[in-house]
Order: sequence, then structure tokens, then C-alpha cells
Amino acid sequence: TKHFPVRRTGRAALTGPRRSIQAVDDVSLTLQRGRVTALVGESGSGKSTVARLLAGLYPRTGGDIRLHGETVNVKRGKAFRAYARRVQMIFQDPFASLNPVHTVRYHLTRALKIHGRAGEDLEKSLRELLSRVQLTPPERYIDKFPHELSGGQRQRVAIARALGADPEALLADEPVSMLDVSIRLGVLNLLRDLKERLHLAILYITHDIASARYFADDTMVMYAGRMVEGGDSETITQRPAHPYTRLLIESAPDPDRITAAPDPTVDNRHFHVKVAAPGVDNRHFHVKVADSGGEPPSLIEPPAGCRFHPRCPVAMERCTTELPPRFDVGDAPGHWAACWLYDGAAR
Ligand code: SF4
Ligand code: MG
Repeated sequence: TKHFPVRRTGRAALTGPRRSIQAVDDVSLTLQRGRVTALVGESGSGKSTVARLLAGLYPRTGGDIRLHGETVNVKRGKAFRAYARRVQMIFQDPFASLNPVHTVRYHLTRALKIHGRAGEDLEKSLRELLSRVQLTPPERYIDKFPHELSGGQRQRVAIARALGADPEALLADEPVSMLDVSIRLGVLNLLRDLKERLHLAILYITHDIASARYFADDTMVMYAGRMVEGGDSETITQRPAHPYTRLLIESAPDPDRITAAPDPTVDNRHFHVKVAAPGVDNRHFHVKVADSGGEPPSLIEPPAGCRFHPRCPVAMERCTTELPPRFDVGDAPGHWAACWLYDGAAR
């Protein structure tokens, strides 16, 4: 297996005329070829910012991106173009990302040309791209304009265009959330098929944790610009550790969700937390999360300590002042939570 690390650590700020928003802070993630990593969070959690930082669309105020271990200078120049070719972005709204006055042929040809891949048999390359995204027979689609296609077909064209660069990674920002519910699954299945056949690393950004479970190998949860929990998707959705992730799963019953049946092993109303207190062994508390309402905090002045503490039903004194680092949850390899409940030193 070839690993494809894209790593970002540090802090990024979007600076406006009068204020600085800490959109994402201390975000670190590694994408691996042949795996889908979901980045889940509410709108405003910073998940799109992470994708745009990785794609080099936003200037960063710190941190770095590494590709195969080499630090990428995202500023500009040849090195960045080489990186940008390997890391392609897919946006939420395929209608907005395709030019309405140009045909499918134009979009795909241009992508192949930009990336120096418009070889001798351009027609063959175009047909291959369309077949890859299951728009077959290709002749039926190649000379169509975006408005002549359905939403799902447009998103497939956008994916084909990204594949025109022969990328190693796709950054897909809510790639199905604007599509009809009935065709979402088809597009996700296509991405999964591409992941396997082309050995792609995929970053799947979504607000829908149910779809992350269905589609992603690994899941990371973001809250207020920070990553709060990560691990394999099955563990995160079946045994969420962070109180915020539990809240997300609790509020997941969304008519649009992809996996219809609630999982009987996930108790959506209550959950157990192990509360760590020195000298007290493994006390278990039954906590109801349903009462925890509220809004995500402003990123201009994020709360001190754990950013989730104003909404957290099990917040402790230290949570209001001390920022929790990542702790191993201990129930599955690689499962971590940035929450003081899992402070091994106190357990
Ligand atoms: Fe809640 Fe404290 Fe954990 Fe934050 S660190 S999620 S406030 S228990
Ligand atoms: Mg977004």
C-alpha cells in the first residue's frame, strides 16, 4: 500500500479588515491512498476551510502540507502546480463549478490540456474519462451543455474533470448534498469505486455523519475549527466518545440521510461516559444528550478551554480553562478524542 500523507498542523486564520477569524486551528490529518476519510461537522465548523487550505485556495497563516513526506510550498510556482494536479477538489454545486456556455467536451479537454494529458488520441481519453464516471455511452454526453444534464450527471462530469488531472487525492466538499436524495448513493458509490480502481485518497467533507458511516473508512469530527474526535468510521459512529460526536449522532435523524435504519446498538437517547476522577475508579454516568441545545460558538472569540464546554452536558471545571489535547479512547486502534473525559493520567 502506498501512503499518501497530506498533513496540516498549526493554525490558519482568515483575516478580514477588522478581525481575525480562527477558522481552523491545530488541524492535523493524513490522507491515505485507497481510503476515504470523512471530515464531519456542522456548517461553520471549519471543514470546508480545511479542504480549501489543502487545495491551496486559501493562504495559510501557519502549518504545513506534506505530500509523500515532502513539505509543499503552497504559495505558487511549479512545485505548487505539481501538487495541485495531484490533489483535485470537487465542489458541492456542480452547476456553479461548470461553465454554462461550454460543453462537456470543452471542460474535459481543457482539464487534460492544463495537466499535459491531452495526448494523441484525445477522443479516446475523453471517452475513457466519461466511462470512468459511468456516463455511457460517452457519445450521449460529450457534446451536452451543463443545463442539458441532471444534477447527478453534472457532478459526474465535475468528477471526470478532476480525474483528467490524474490525481492521487480528491477533496470532495459536500459532493452530494445538493443532489436529489435518490441519486446521492449512486455518486458516493461511484467515488468509492474510483477510490478502489484508481487507488485514490478521498477527503469526504459532510455534515451528515450517517453518510460518513456508509461511505468513509475513517472519520474525523470537527467542532468550532478544531478536530475533536477521529478513528475508523465504524467505531466513531457505533461508539462515539466525544460528547459532541454523540450530539451529532443524536441529531442525525434527517430525512435526507443515506443509511435509513437506525442502528440498534447505538442508543440515541443516552450514553455512558466514564468519568475520570483521581481515586475514583471507572464511575459510569448515564447522561442524556438530548437536552443539550445551543449553537456553535463564534470563531471570532472561541470559548476558552474546550470550545464545546458551553454546550457540553458533562463539562467539568477544567474544561472551561484548559484546552483538551487528543487522548486515546482505548477501545479501538487509532480512536482518539480531544476531551478531558479520556485523560489517561487522571483515570
Ligand atoms: Fe465536555 Fe469537557 Fe470533554 Fe469538552 S473536554 S467535551 S467540555 S467533557
Ligand atoms: Mg461548507
